Amino acid sequence: PPRVRFCPSPTGNPHVGLVRTALFNWAFARHHGGTFVFRIEDTDAARDSEESYNQLLDSMRWLGFTWDEGPEIGGPHAPYRQSQRMDIYRDVAEKLLAGGYAYPCYCTTEELDARREAARAAGKPSGYDGHCRELSAEQKQAYEVEGRSHVVRFRMPDEATTFTDLVRGEITVQAENVTDYGIVRANGAPLYTLVNPVDDALMEITHVLRGEDLLSSTPRQIALYKALIDLGIAKAIPQFGHLPYVMGEGNKKLSKRDPQASLNVYRERGFLPEGLLNYLSLLGWSFSADQDVFAIEDMVAKFDIADVNANPARFDLKKAESINADHIRMLDEKAFAAACEPWLRAPHANWAPEDFDEKAWQAIAPHAQTRVTVLSDITANVDFLFLESPVEDEASWTKAMKEGSDALLRTARTKLESADWTSPESLKNAVLAAGEEHGLKLGKAQAPVRVAVTGRTVGLPLFESLEILGKDKTLARIDAALA
Ligand code: GLU
Repeated sequence: PPRVRFCPSPTGNPHVGLVRTALFNWAFARHHGGTFVFRIEDTDAARDSEESYNQLLDSMRWLGFTWDEGPEIGGPHAPYRQSQRMDIYRDVAEKLLAGGYAYPCYCTTEELDARREAARAAGKPSGYDGHCRELSAEQKQAYEVEGRSHVVRFRMPDEATTFTDLVRGEITVQAENVTDYGIVRANGAPLYTLVNPVDDALMEITHVLRGEDLLSSTPRQIALYKALIDLGIAKAIPQFGHLPYVMGEGNKKLSKRDPQASLNVYRERGFLPEGLLNYLSLLGWSFSADQDVFAIEDMVAKFDIADVNANPARFDLKKAESINADHIRMLDEKAFAAACEPWLRAPHANWAPEDFDEKAWQAIAPHAQTRVTVLSDITANVDFLFLESPVEDEASWTKAMKEGSDALLRTARTKLESADWTSPESLKNAVLAAGEEHGLKLGKAQAPVRVAVTGRTVGLPLFESLEILGKDKTLARIDAALA
């Protein structure tokens, strides 16, 4: 069974591209009964943060992902945070040096820059030129005496690399396009280029599914893998599959800094994890020609990496919202009511937490379920129940309160007062009868009542709303509108 990994770096906030990568790896593992390894790539002390690490874990849990090995649960290849594996990398770097797979490079940044410029000017390839590849012991000694520090550079083979990408098919990269590259910094810190394949090897990863932006590092990793196999550290080269770019506004690559890219934005707006995952699964993959909304288990059952499309996927917020709305509708009544509660209790709501009325909420919830796209929409739909007086929305007021509205409201008030308040039907008949007296159809007659009571021209079914708000409050609000 396959072993896949999700290995983010804890920098900044998690973004949707990252979630898509996690999802495809997780679905792949679950589909094949394999193992989903969660590894934290935190070797860049300058950019990584503990806060971001905690956020990553929290996001993974919120999304409902479970991992078989990784932080907090451990596993046979623990630890799963690279910052705790430094000894391993040091050891592997030494073996690579001793075996001649890597070499110390003493070139200074200035020297490298100058030679790169010269190569460019001459129209030649501008990657590393192999300057320190074949230094003799004396030359190394001389550099050391000079007081130069060195990086460790991996020696790329002189032949082209060919591999079969699970998404893109056969890919060949010529040797001159992949020059020797650094794997350990001058200060001894190992780089992503080393630690990522070393851990993939040690953790026995069989399939590397990751973003297209990492495609260019694959020939290097394959070469390093071959060295690790020679050294007895790796068993086999994994298969690679590079997931398509996600494009945002204006057909530009969705960048981490784009607000549309931040996972937290979706979470705070009240996307359901299953709605968001459903949408994100469509970025480069499709469930079927005529079905976009599905349960995640069904996605897992169908997921095949061979079906992933290599073309860039376009992020479409409207579609994400509409899929989320469908998932909200798919919740059973109780689950819907429970999912909304955090939005109805502070700090999202604009009333005090003690003004939240559980009973009124339970009564209105079934009427609200088809009205929300994201859970945070719920507050505007039901705020009339919890606010002391309805929101003041001038546009609604102007729209509904016409000449004659006062007279209508007075009649409606009288009829509502003697209606049966246990029956929305009776309340409806009261407003209907009031409208008839003033030559108004129900729609026209109920508009001023709705605005007087809820503050808005549109909302949940009116007569159920009135019943739940109750007779006293309803009549008081009509009085206030008439005053
Ligand atoms: N830590 C790397 C990143 O965040 C992982 C890349 C990979 O999947 O190989 O981009």
